[in-house]
Amino acid sequence: MDIESNPCISCGKERIKRKEGTVLLGSIKTKITVYVCPDKICQKGVEKKIAEKEERRLNFINRSRQRALNRISSKKTAKPA
Ligand SMILES: [Zn+2]
Repeated sequence: MDIESNPCISCGKERIKRKEGTVLLGSIKTKITVYVCPDKICQKGVEKKIAEKEERRLNFINRSRQRALNRISSKKTAKPA
């Protein structure tokens, strides 16, 4: 059996297996294993960090979309009717 090192991104502790499952990627079934930090508080922080990152990413997408929409609407108003 392979021994894989899977340290926590926050504290560096070896992470533990939380759950296993299968996901369908296209037509291929892939087994996934979720590893978490043994330190519950640290794990919470890691999850929060991931959530914040995701939120920032979504905000960025929304902002760029809004900017694009603003450009379109300002073009429309600039045009003489
Ligand atoms: Zn940790």
